[in-house]
Amino acid sequence: MNQGQLIVLSGPSGVGKSTVVKALLQYKPKIQFSVSATTRPKRPDEEEGKSYFFVTREKFEEMLQEDALLEHAEYAGNYYGTPVAPLDKALAEGYDVLLDIEPQGALQIKAKRPDAIMIFLAAPSWQELRRRLTGRGDTPPDKIELRLQQARWEYTQATEYEYILISDEVEHVVKELLAILTAESCKVKNRISLLKEEL
Ligand code: 5GP
Repeated sequence: MNQGQLIVLSGPSGVGKSTVVKALLQYKPKIQFSVSATTRPKRPDEEEGKSYFFVTREKFEEMLQEDALLEHAEYAGNYYGTPVAPLDKALAEGYDVLLDIEPQGALQIKAKRPDAIMIFLAAPSWQELRRRLTGRGDTPPDKIELRLQQARWEYTQATEYEYILISDEVEHVVKELLAILTAESCKVKNRISLLKEEL
């Protein structure tokens, strides 16, 4: 069985990554979402073990010491990290694994797993990003400014990615995402074994 592919999706807070991820998973069931560990408090609509593993700082530091995280970063005063064991298990089982992570972590993945497909999701405009962040109603105003400031830096990192998607209509973004994944799966490295079977 072919190993699954790692898909890294980054983009500023509020751009609509989770909506896109949810829609994508409906179209393509053989993708597993990588559930991160975070020290950030849980939001009302979030579920432990599904949205995130919500952990204390002590627990997070313990995971770091045990080398249990493939990458990690501090974002808006909280730690976030990708547990490596479930990710490698899913890849070995042939699942594609999707990571919704910010650029500091994404660059660590790019260095450690150069085959990862790197996708940056940008907002249609700056005003729209502010509107979406405010409209979500779960982030206090001072945190919104912090996240917009963070977004400016994140945009400077977009050149490190292979693809840029514009977060307009969800269906459109998912269509482009599926096109990327189809093209990636046709790459020689993923298809050459088929030819070898014929020889
Ligand atoms: P939020 O707090 O809004 O859920 O996420 C804040 C930022 O942290 C988002 O940009 C999200 O992509 C990123 N993030 C979520 N999980 C991880 C992770 O495991 N590692 C890294 N580096 N960033 C993450």
